[in-house]
Amino acid sequence: MRVAVASFEYEGNSLSLRVERRADFARIGIFEGAALLQAMEGKDLALTGAIHALRDAGADLVPVFAAKGGAGGHVEDAFFHEARDRIVEGIAAALPLDGVYLAMHGAMICAEEKDPEGAVLAALRARIGPGIPIAISLDLHAHVTPRMVAAADIVVGYETYPHVDAYQTGGRAAGLLVRALRGEIRPVTRMRKYNAIVPVLGGATLGDAPMAHVAAHARALEAAGRALSVSYFPVQPWLDMADVGITGLAVSDGDPAGAEAVAQDILDDMWRRRRDFELPAMTPAEAVRAALALPGRTLLIDAPDAIGGGASGDSPALLAALLAEAPEADAALCLVDPAAAARAFELGEGAEASFAIGAWQDRRWFKPVELVARVERLCEGSFTYRGGPASGARARLGPSAVLRVGGLRLLVASHAVYEHLDEHYAACGIDIAACKLVSFKNLMNYRKLLGPDTGFIALHGPGATPLRLQDVAWENRRRPFWPADDMTAPTALA
Ligand SMILES: [Zn+2]
Repeated sequence: MRVAVASFEYEGNSLSLRVERRADFARIGIFEGAALLQAMEGKDLALTGAIHALRDAGADLVPVFAAKGGAGGHVEDAFFHEARDRIVEGIAAALPLDGVYLAMHGAMICAEEKDPEGAVLAALRARIGPGIPIAISLDLHAHVTPRMVAAADIVVGYETYPHVDAYQTGGRAAGLLVRALRGEIRPVTRMRKYNAIVPVLGGATLGDAPMAHVAAHARALEAAGRALSVSYFPVQPWLDMADVGITGLAVSDGDPAGAEAVAQDILDDMWRRRRDFELPAMTPAEAVRAALALPGRTLLIDAPDAIGGGASGDSPALLAALLAEAPEADAALCLVDPAAAARAFELGEGAEASFAIGAWQDRRWFKPVELVARVERLCEGSFTYRGGPASGARARLGPSAVLRVGGLRLLVASHAVYEHLDEHYAACGIDIAACKLVSFKNLMNYRKLLGPDTGFIALHGPGATPLRLQDVAWENRRRPFWPADDMTAPTALA
C-alpha cells in the first residue's frame, strides 16, 4: 500500500479583518518530504494520527506537504495557490499510488475561492483520476460542501468539542482508507445540510450539552452498524456565504442510500436541538461586577473576540471594564497589539508610561484604551501546546510585554495565537492561579480550566465572533435561516 499524506488546515471567518499569508503559516511550520514525517512526531495532530495508523498497517508513506494555520479571516490567494499546487502536483508526482490521506479543517476561505478545500480536492481528483481512494479528516466546525464530498471517498470529522480527538480522527479516516485498500469495504460518503447556524459557545460535546446528545446518537448509529462512520458539523457560523449550514454526514459500506439516511438522521437531531445552543452572557461591565461578587476565581470569556474563531484578539472592551469596575483586583488579560508591544520594548522593563491599547487591527467597534502602566516584563512568548488539536506543536506570541496597571497584569502580544489552556500566560510569567479574574479569548478550551473554585462568565457584544448570530449584518445568507427566522421546518442546502 503506497499512500500519499498531506495537510492544509485553516479556519476562515468572513467577519474578521485578519489575512493569513505564507509567513503566518510558516511561523507554525510548513513541511515537505521527509521533514514532514519528522515534524509530525510527538504531536497529536490529525495528520500524526493518520501517519501512525497507516504505518501500523504496513503502508509505504509518501509525505507531500503540511501547513497548519489557526483561525483568522481568510488565506491570501497567493499562498492558497501555492499550497494547492504543492499538494496536487506533489501527489501526482508520486504516482502510482494506492491511496491519499489529507488533513483539512474544512472551513477555509480565500479572497477569491470560497470553497478552498473543495477546490483542492476537485483539482486532485481531476489530476489523479477516479480510481485512487481519497480519505480526509475535518474539524467539527468544517463547512462541508458537495464538491468536497464528491471528490473524497472517505470524510471523517472530529467527534469532540473542546477538540481532544484530532489524532484519533486522523487515525479513523486512515483506518477506513486501509480497509478500503485491502478490499474489506467500499466506502461511500453522503451529506445533508440545513440553512441553520448555531452559537459555537453552546456547542460543547460535554455533559448534558446538546452536541453531547448528538455525538452519543452518532456513536449509537455506528454501533448499530448503520454506517462505518457518522459525523456532525455544527459548522463555523461566521461565514457569510449562502451555502453554510449545520451538516450531517455518513460513510457507508457501498450503500449510498443508507449513508444519506444516516446523514439526514444526525442532521435532524441537531436541528431539533437548535434552541438549546444559546448560553447566558453579560456585557463586560456586568460580567466584571458579577465576578467580583463570586467566591473563587472567575474566567471572563471574551466570546465576541475569540482568536480561535478567527477574531483579531484586539478588542479592549473587557480591558476598559476591568479598569473601570475592578482597578485593584488581581486580574490577567491578554490582548493582541504589536504596536503597544513594540513601544514597551523601546521603553524597557521597569519603565512607566502611557499606552493606547487594543483595537489595533479592528476599529469597527472599539477605540484603543488609554492607560498608564509599568512595563513589568518583556518576552518572546514561545510555548508548546499541552493538549487540544495542536497538542505538542510550538506557538509564538511574538515580542510581548506584561504591563502592570493596579492589580491587572496585561499581556500585550504581537500575534493572534490560538489559545488552549494558560500556556500563553505562563510563557510570559503570569500565574493565573494567583488571579481572581482571568480573561480568555476562546470559546471552549477554557472549560478545561474550570473546577470547584473556578467558574466562568461569558461576555456578549460586538466583534468578529459575536454570540447573537441573528444580529449580524449578513450580506450573502439566504432567508429564511435559523436563527434569524423562527422556522418550524428547515430549508435544505444539500
Ligand atoms: Zn473547531
